[in-house]
Amino acid sequence: MNIVDSTITLKLPEGSSDVLLKNLYLSCDPYMRNLMNKTQGTPSPFSYTPQSVIAGFGVSKVLESGNPDYKEGDLVWGFSKWEENSMPGITAYGGFFELGTPKKGENVFVSAASGAVEQLVGQFAKLHGCYVVGSAGSKEKVDMLKNKFGFDEGFNYKEEPDLNAVLKRYFPEGIGIYFENVGGKTLDAVLLNMRVHDRIPACGMISQYNLTQPEGVTNLAHIIYKRIRMEGFNSADFFHLYPKFLEFVLPHIREEKIVYMEDIAEGLENGPATLVGLFSGRNVGKQVLVVARE
Ligand code: NDP
Repeated sequence: MNIVDSTITLKLPEGSSDVLLKNLYLSCDPYMRNLMNKTQGTPSPFSYTPQSVIAGFGVSKVLESGNPDYKEGDLVWGFSKWEENSMPGITAYGGFFELGTPKKGENVFVSAASGAVEQLVGQFAKLHGCYVVGSAGSKEKVDMLKNKFGFDEGFNYKEEPDLNAVLKRYFPEGIGIYFENVGGKTLDAVLLNMRVHDRIPACGMISQYNLTQPEGVTNLAHIIYKRIRMEGFNSADFFHLYPKFLEFVLPHIREEKIVYMEDIAEGLENGPATLVGLFSGRNVGKQVLVVARE
């Protein structure tokens, strides 16, 4: 079966078994930048070339269907033309619980902490009985970490010239789990503050995606000295955990023990600026682009 994007084709051909979709909600995600880059990241069938349409996850409505499994008005999600990445939850869940292997009372540090994945990591860590500190790029975001998501502490990394000193202040006994999202200077300072046999689930390194020459990490040898387990992952590695993830997360959402913050931008014409905004921290929470509400 083919999925036909309604922005390209407005009517299914006679006798077609395809589904005609109208895109409603599209996602803006940092990984999209990597897919535009010839020198970084893994080549992927979804890599973008000039003049091609950006692809990603999204939510769409079935306008017309020649396929018996779908009927007009159904809402569907999946990978199509620039659409929603509905996976920040499974990224946070798999990265934190499977790779972080947290224990109650451990010290957790989360960078880019107000973001789509990270706000959930912080809340999962609190529900697990950990002490959690997050860094973010504005006072508004830091307040949100503490007052909305229940982090124990937060700081604005843009106002802290000495990240090593600030981490020592918040983690006098060292960091147990660092949920890595930014790379660069932050990772360098974290490596000085990790303890022996602790873990770094490496989710992303957003500070590096726009650089033609990635920054060096001078303290990398601490991975050896401290026997740190640093492991990169892709959210797809954890898709098999989806039922377990829902079983964990849904009761907490119903009881309002997990909250979620979205940043909604309106209109496909605002897509490029919205995507670029991720790299200056313009978004507050998960960035969604609304193309149409119905
Ligand atoms: P976010 O919602 O967190 O948006 C990105 C945020 O990153 C911005 O709001 C900004 O917040 C922060 N940021 C941007 N540039 C920098 C910088 N130079 N230094 C420090 N922080 C910066 O996006 P996501 O939660 O979707 O993604 C966060 C990370 O997780 C990214 O690295 C992404 O690639 C990765 N990721 C990985 C996945 C995987 O499968 N491995 C899946 C999804 C995401 P601030 O104002 O705080 O600077």
